[in-house]
Amino acid sequence: MNGRRRANVSDERPSATSTAGDLDRRRLAEALDAVGDAVVVVDAAGEAVLRNNAADRFNDARHADALAGDALRELLDRARNGEECSRELQLYGPPAEVFWMTARPLMAEGRRIGAVGLVRDVTEARRIETVRRDFVANVSHELKTPVGALAVLAETLATTENPEVARQFAERIADEATRVGAIVDDLLDLGSIESQSTFRGSVAVTELVRSAIDRVGAAAAASGHRITVSDCDEVVTCDRRQVVSALANLLDNALKYSEPGTQISISAGSVDGWVTFEVADQGVGIPSRDLDRIFERFYRVDRARSRTTGGTGLGLAIVRNVAHAHHGDVTVDSSEGDGSVFRLRIPVAGNVSPLFSEGR
Ligand code: ADP
Repeated sequence: MNGRRRANVSDERPSATSTAGDLDRRRLAEALDAVGDAVVVVDAAGEAVLRNNAADRFNDARHADALAGDALRELLDRARNGEECSRELQLYGPPAEVFWMTARPLMAEGRRIGAVGLVRDVTEARRIETVRRDFVANVSHELKTPVGALAVLAETLATTENPEVARQFAERIADEATRVGAIVDDLLDLGSIESQSTFRGSVAVTELVRSAIDRVGAAAAASGHRITVSDCDEVVTCDRRQVVSALANLLDNALKYSEPGTQISISAGSVDGWVTFEVADQGVGIPSRDLDRIFERFYRVDRARSRTTGGTGLGLAIVRNVAHAHHGDVTVDSSEGDGSVFRLRIPVAGNVSPLFSEGR
């Protein structure tokens, strides 16, 4: 059977004496194996008469699977007594898993002849729900602060008669409006990277690096940062707009989190079919306890600093999404007080995927 076992039907007979009934049962068994969910059928006495491959893991199981097996048995017992029932079971792992299970009675000619139970792995679905919920809560929270400030500033502006005070309030209104605009822009960027089928083309690495530097040129000139460049001759297949946006975000962070006048470097090199872009600064660095979290949406090490520099907390989430959309990755080395090095790696040959999972 090519190593594949089929659902276990208890009264299956040898093929030499196969009858139409046997064939039906085998067809049923094959069909149930094709279903991703675990399915178990018990008779009126509670004996399993049919169990598909996916349900095997809950039979005579150990550890977490044993808990799930017990929960399913309990539901099947209740179903044998005429009750339709279901529940969700959360296993804390590792790995953490969530199962939705249901059981219902089986009837024939008005008699209860057993029950059928089903177990569905809903771990990924629940994880995505949580990520979505957190995201909506975060976006609301992030927008609430500047929008609240706008309301208060506008009210005050309306009542002041002092032109100097009015000017100051108007400036602060412009700042807060810029902030809301930056958050909305980054959210739109994130959304389009996640959902859009990306445009793939051949682009010279040099051009990607130069375009990213152009994007931050004015800010770098204003702060007196020196940007040094060393790139390579490679040509990559990628979504140009996305990669430039990712590199510009890394450069923008390097500017924001290092002292004016210090040096920032951007370099690119190719090894074994991969291009690695490296952006290094001599800035404040990132505490090691925060390194795992900085790529999450809205995560900031120092909220106050990010706010004063106009940060949205979305820049690195965009970089990470671009990396994943290109089947690449982004990593960071950093030490507090010494600076940080971010590395964005993408395959030379492309393979840009329009879809990748969030919350990673
Ligand atoms: P933000 O808009 O706040 O800069 P990011 O997603 O770009 O958001 O970065 C997340 C957090 O990671 C920042 O708030 C900052 O604390 C930290 N960070 C990012 N880049 C650097 C860097 N080059 N040096 C120091 N800290 C950084």
